Amino acid sequence: MKNKHLTDSEIQQFAFDKAECKKEVVEHISSCSLCKQRVEAYLLLSTSIKSIPDPALGFDLSNRVMMQFDTTSKKKTLLDYFVYAFIILSITVVGFCIAYFSSVFINWFKGNSTVSMAFLICIALSILMILIIDIMKSHSRKMKMLKF
Ligand SMILES: [Zn+2]
Repeated sequence: MKNKHLTDSEIQQFAFDKAECKKEVVEHISSCSLCKQRVEAYLLLSTSIKSIPDPALGFDLSNRVMMQFDTTSKKKTLLDYFVYAFIILSITVVGFCIAYFSSVFINWFKGNSTVSMAFLICIALSILMILIIDIMKSHSRKMKMLKF
């Protein structure tokens, strides 16, 4: 039998999970009136917390949230249409340029101009680096917004 009184965690375990309690804890509580009072206080606290009704709001929260969704989604669809139109326009312009200047490009790559090839590769790599950095920055910003 313990001479000291039980800790809070032992009292809580006895109050809410008596089957998992150690034998010495059960014996102490059966003999000690102070620890028995603490167990009863925990049980009373638990039942009073369970008897508190669920909080109710004075207004219809779901309706207000849905109203917010409706206004933002309409604004976003306009922006999305603009972005899609811009993407389609740029793809058409690039496709037209490739089709129109294909003979020029083929002649340019046929001539063994290593300087111009190196220049082209440098430009392509720098554009790729800028795009990767931009994607990483926007990704980290979005993750910070989500608080990950
Ligand atoms: Zn005790």
